[in-house]
Amino acid sequence: MSRFFDPRYSGLAPYVPGEQPQDMVYIKLNTNESPFPPSPRAVAAAAEAAGRLQLYSDPEALALRREFARIFGLEADRVVFSNGSDEILYWIFLAFCADGAAFPALSYGFYPVYGEFTGTPCTQIPLREDYSVAPEDYYHLGKTVILANPNAPTGLALSAAQIEEILRTNPDNVVAVDEAYVDFGAESCLPLIDRYDNLLVVQTFSKSRSMAGARLGFAAGSRELIEDLNRVKYSTNPYNVNSMTMAAGIAALADEEYTRKNCRIIAENRDYTIAQLRAMGFFVTDSLANFVFARHPAVSGRTLYEKLRERGVLVRHFSREDIGDFNRITVGTREQMDILLEKTREILEETK
Ligand SMILES: *Cc1c(COP(=O)(O)O)cnc(C)c1O
Repeated sequence: MSRFFDPRYSGLAPYVPGEQPQDMVYIKLNTNESPFPPSPRAVAAAAEAAGRLQLYSDPEALALRREFARIFGLEADRVVFSNGSDEILYWIFLAFCADGAAFPALSYGFYPVYGEFTGTPCTQIPLREDYSVAPEDYYHLGKTVILANPNAPTGLALSAAQIEEILRTNPDNVVAVDEAYVDFGAESCLPLIDRYDNLLVVQTFSKSRSMAGARLGFAAGSRELIEDLNRVKYSTNPYNVNSMTMAAGIAALADEEYTRKNCRIIAENRDYTIAQLRAMGFFVTDSLANFVFARHPAVSGRTLYEKLRERGVLVRHFSREDIGDFNRITVGTREQMDILLEKTREILEETK
């Protein structure tokens, strides 16, 4: 740290992203990326847009918002796009958390980082014994509620009706639902935004649309909430979405068939992986996301992570103690999952 660094931030513990190792080719199941490339139409659109990079991107993202409106049946002024959904989550902490924020004690690791960075008092609410979110813990909180649904890293989801009760009992606070994984099988809260002016639904193109490297996310909500988010956006970085990403995003939205097919395959592979791991003696949560969260009574999470890594399979192990026994394993192709399962069997055999 230099002597120039603002002491306000000197104690900050930044978010630690999953490894992107360059030393060899791994079967990469550690950062919830898609095993499939983006839609060929998105790739072509991005390449075409590259020829116009001398121009700034459209700060209003008008064509993208119009395509969103067409696909989702919402007006174009009910959505704002961002440089990954992480950017929107940051804006939410900047814009709506004057009364403090509340989120599950085990959830997306970025929430407490944004909380600390923005000086937001954060209430971290423990999960139930079975790792599920207890919706009643979020009633009448008087704070901004931030819920990943499905939650990460558990993959467990609440129904839209359960979230509706949280919206109903916190009418004077924003409830932000982070739906990064919703396309793999959970219920979206998007249909509720007409009825709740305190609802923000946040989604990303990183997972179900295979565009993690393009950085594209959005929030949908009431016109007023979107206007507030735009106020933050235009006060920091109006050209937050680059033109190649914007063009790819429009094409990806239009190619719904491609996204749906990939999500269906990943959901099938997930259920297969959960069943196989359980047959080996793992405890595995009922994930509705594109990852599974698993622990084995006979091998520590750290050991399994290290031994898989030696064998060329990368999974995510978190250093925090309460989930040290677990690994979070991204769901890839059937071939990738079969290799993971085979290596895992080998490791269990060896550590017997
Ligand atoms: C991956 C993820 C995001 C954000 O992804 P971006 O790539 O920034 O769009 C947000 N929330 C959760 C829970 C995630 O897992």
